[in-house]
Amino acid sequence: MVTLPQMSETNRRLLLKTRPEGRVKNSDFDLVEEAVPEISDGEALIRTTWISLDPTNRVWMADQPGYLPPVAIGEVMRSGGLGRVVASKSPNYEVGQLVNGFTGWQEYVVASDSLPFTPLPDDLGVPESAFLGALGMTGLTAYFGITDVAKVEEGDTVVISAAAGAVGSVAGQIAKILGARVVGIAGGPEKCAWLVDELGFDAAVDYKADDWRAQLKEATPGGIDVNFENVGGEIMDAVFSRLKIGGRVALCGLISDYNNPDDPVGLRNFGAIITKRATVQGFLILDYFDRIKDATTQLAQWIGEGKLQSRETIVEGLANTPESLNLLFDGGNTGKLVVKIAD
Ligand code: NDP
Repeated sequence: MVTLPQMSETNRRLLLKTRPEGRVKNSDFDLVEEAVPEISDGEALIRTTWISLDPTNRVWMADQPGYLPPVAIGEVMRSGGLGRVVASKSPNYEVGQLVNGFTGWQEYVVASDSLPFTPLPDDLGVPESAFLGALGMTGLTAYFGITDVAKVEEGDTVVISAAAGAVGSVAGQIAKILGARVVGIAGGPEKCAWLVDELGFDAAVDYKADDWRAQLKEATPGGIDVNFENVGGEIMDAVFSRLKIGGRVALCGLISDYNNPDDPVGLRNFGAIITKRATVQGFLILDYFDRIKDATTQLAQWIGEGKLQSRETIVEGLANTPESLNLLFDGGNTGKLVVKIAD
């Protein structure tokens, strides 16, 4: 039987007050308490249980055009998350159901036709937070990036940046399952050891070490077939210079630029695309929504077979959510970063 999260009388919400400059501060947001919203016919009330912290949250705070509009000043901060249905006037939602969708940084949210949520299975034997990790958007991004965009094949040498993070750690494990030789780039010896010793990567490069370029060279003696790129900047430049002729790049993210939206570094080594006759393809998980069901089934199967690990870094409490986002930019997370909002 499902235990419903405890109801409260107020809905605490974080509204964007000022657009952050550089790192995000709690003071960039107003923490307000409002009445728990009433629901109308066709709607359901969701109690947020977990908030997903994603690098793209920082992008949405900037007043710049993107694949989704910027969060407006005074608006609740947009984010993915999980929740439980605590009241329903909709045939699409049952009280007690675990659901996934745009919860935002708030304790309650109303599911409706214009803000739908996806019911999730409760019986997979994984912790709830895995539905934001290996079985969530980041796991799916890794899945489609490796299989559909990079088309990784047995024998490929695949290099993944931000490899100990949510997307990177799953991408590397999937590439291993497909028979590739996988090299992860991550910050610090602990993360590198986790990649090799626990996740089965073939090698790891500690980009915080002085000799990281030499480490990359040593780990990719024959060059690189596939780069799954999450970081950008000088890491991407160095990886591009080691691509094989005909190398493929799945351009997933450029986190090194997100705190600096007005002056991004991006790629400098454009010449490598010509000399290596490389293919660079950007992609967004939003374009794969119609294929999510099959992909999730595959990811769940790999988890069940012990071939894929989901790891989450958990922080607690709504009030500190803005500054917790900085963990993503400081490397303070291993695997998926989530905020626990309610039991
Ligand atoms: P992660 O869990 O990977 O967290 C970010 C990690 O990036 C940190 O842990 C840190 O690890 C590393 N990092 C941060 N800043 C830098 C830097 N300046 N240089 C090098 N490494 C850095 O986040 P996600 O898995 O959620 O996201 C990874 C990437 O995927 C992001 O670029 C994100 O925007 C993108 N993404 C794209 C999607 C799409 O549809 N295209 C969907 C989801 C995510 P370390 O300790 O190793 O430094």
